[in-house]
Amino acid sequence: MSSLKKNDYIPYGLHSVTEEDIEAVTDVLRNKPLTQGLKVEEFENAISKQVCADYCVAVNSATSALHLSCLALGVSDNDIVWTSPISFVASANCALYCGAKIDFVDINPSTGLLDVSKLKIKLKKAAANNSLPKVIIPVHLAGSSCNMQEIFNLSKIYNFSIIEDASHAIGAEYKESKVGSCKYSSITVFSFHPVKIITTGEGGAATTNDTQIANSLKKLRSHGIVKDHNKFINSAEGSWNYEQQSLGFNYRITDIQAALGLSQLKRLKKITEERNYLLNFYRDILKDLPISFLEIPEFNYSSVHLAIIRLKKISKKYYYNVFEGLKDNNIGVQLHYKPIYKNPYFEKFKFNKEEFQGAEIYESSAISIPLFPGLKPKQQMRIKEILQKLL
Ligand SMILES: *Cc1c(COP(=O)(O)O)cnc(C)c1O
Repeated sequence: MSSLKKNDYIPYGLHSVTEEDIEAVTDVLRNKPLTQGLKVEEFENAISKQVCADYCVAVNSATSALHLSCLALGVSDNDIVWTSPISFVASANCALYCGAKIDFVDINPSTGLLDVSKLKIKLKKAAANNSLPKVIIPVHLAGSSCNMQEIFNLSKIYNFSIIEDASHAIGAEYKESKVGSCKYSSITVFSFHPVKIITTGEGGAATTNDTQIANSLKKLRSHGIVKDHNKFINSAEGSWNYEQQSLGFNYRITDIQAALGLSQLKRLKKITEERNYLLNFYRDILKDLPISFLEIPEFNYSSVHLAIIRLKKISKKYYYNVFEGLKDNNIGVQLHYKPIYKNPYFEKFKFNKEEFQGAEIYESSAISIPLFPGLKPKQQMRIKEILQKLL
């Protein structure tokens, strides 16, 4: 390792790849099928076991997993899907791919998570207008689970399905259960993009305890094709046959990626522990600055995907100066996220930002500062010094 220069750029997130990971990938390249082999199944079994779910279906991205999840739950034209405005656009786009309408539920700016009291009000109104959502997609921002038990209870009253967008949250726990166990949802989705907790380069997965959902995810991942003659609609004319039974996609993940994922998954506990440690170190060294940290509800063990600080003084100019000041000092920062409805593509849906005051407050105060395995105390101290000057 080269020694860190004083002003080296520190990104806000960075994947870690070990020699063991490289070994696992080269092993596939040398010996195994590159795709549609056994590594994918092995990876899926390892995730199922890790998160205590009956089934896992791995695909080429979380975006694909979200899309297939919506389809598996029957989302189509005339349906409505709700998600959080403070998320990556994929949480909303998956509904649009299915021809459904998207709407948002405001967040609590202190946690960045879906505000259950606002959800209750919105559901009550929607019930009166006959415009209830078919699916709600709570987003576990920064690796903290939303209050799933309460959302689940509401799903029984208002009859909607739940897809957890846990792109940030593999390794996290909610109350007594692992995120991904689907104790309070139909499906949970994970991302393995390099910026997330563990990576496969690109990749994602959906977990579920529902056999039918698992089967339909598997089918849709590969063109809607079925190869098992016992599941054919028509009679098989020979052992060469296959049937396309629905309109699916090629959303498959490769064995090369699955091997990397399997190897990374072995370090999951260590990674989340380090992330928690780094966040706590920040809490300690930044405690006298005029900032707060995104709150982690006490029922959570967070995977700490991001270190999100919130400026106490709310002013556009102040936010801009702190954000750009960190960048000018070679500190990678990011806003996770600008409300989805503020993207030009979403303008046509005419969302009323008055409805999302939590998201608006959050947007004007939240900054993700660097946090990733291998971040050094010295680097964290440098970030402190720069923040101290800027604030
Ligand atoms: C990264 C991310 C996604 C999309 O993940 P990909 O694997 O890149 O498709 C979806 N939702 C959230 C909240 C994310 O952070």
